[in-house]
Amino acid sequence: MKKEREEDFEANLTGEDAQGEDVNKPRWFKRIRKGILTSTADKKETPEGLWNKCPECNYICTTTELSENLYVCPKCNYHHRIGSQDYYEFLFDNKEYTELFDQIRSKDALGFTDLKPYQKRLDEIHAKTDLKDSMRVATGKIEGEGYVIACMDFEFIGGSLGSVMGEKFSRAVDYCIEHKLPYLVISKSGGARMMESAFSLMQLAKTSGKLSQLSDAGLPYISLLTDPTFGGISASFGMLGDLNIAEPGALIGFAGPRVIKETIKKDLPEGFQRSEFLLEHGFLDFIVDRKNLKQKLAQLSIHFRS
Ligand SMILES: [Zn+2]
Repeated sequence: MKKEREEDFEANLTGEDAQGEDVNKPRWFKRIRKGILTSTADKKETPEGLWNKCPECNYICTTTELSENLYVCPKCNYHHRIGSQDYYEFLFDNKEYTELFDQIRSKDALGFTDLKPYQKRLDEIHAKTDLKDSMRVATGKIEGEGYVIACMDFEFIGGSLGSVMGEKFSRAVDYCIEHKLPYLVISKSGGARMMESAFSLMQLAKTSGKLSQLSDAGLPYISLLTDPTFGGISASFGMLGDLNIAEPGALIGFAGPRVIKETIKKDLPEGFQRSEFLLEHGFLDFIVDRKNLKQKLAQLSIHFRS
């Protein structure tokens, strides 16, 4: 029973309807025919982690092939979601970089409890992954050009914006100013971290203010939006770049499409909130394929310096 309640809570977080025990609610799936109809010969048994199926075109390839292709589907160019580690390894020359401010950790200042205490959530994630928070900051060279990259990890409470992300973001800006380096932020987030309440929302003002200092120092800020970028991120530094760029097919917005549809009571246009739609409507400067990202960033650094 406890497990079921937890799942409902996760569903609420992502904006889905809670299932609960209400038997009168319509069911999502209705079984039309009984039994499993797939013949044994057609069944696919693949060990977890070895093979990967593209959610877009169903192309199946090995995880090694996919990682060599920077987690982009070789057939349809679908960009799989990856974490900060992967971005750092393919962007920085020879995979060499220095991580900054990794000693800062989130803590439960408000004693916030939903279905479990916030501190317990944090402890569980710390036990499961090496991540200290939803954003990591690193510096290194991209085709010889110095860069500071702040990158979010969706794995860590949906890449949510809390006090630690705000602080790391700000210190990264200070570091850029001190060392005269361009700043790249790779966003991938559901928005503000509700467990930090108003402290989370204060980060919107803090990060935006910090960016004006970077601008005053004449240093470029590039905002790369990846799938998905929502809420407090797109409402603050996500859209404040000197250049706002995105990966192909990324879902970017403030509220989710379902919420908007229910509010305006109208069907949404095709491709709504995808990068291509945003580019067409003037919210983005350009879309960049992951395989061209490194070269593009190096070019931009040179361009901004001259
Ligand atoms: Zn594909």
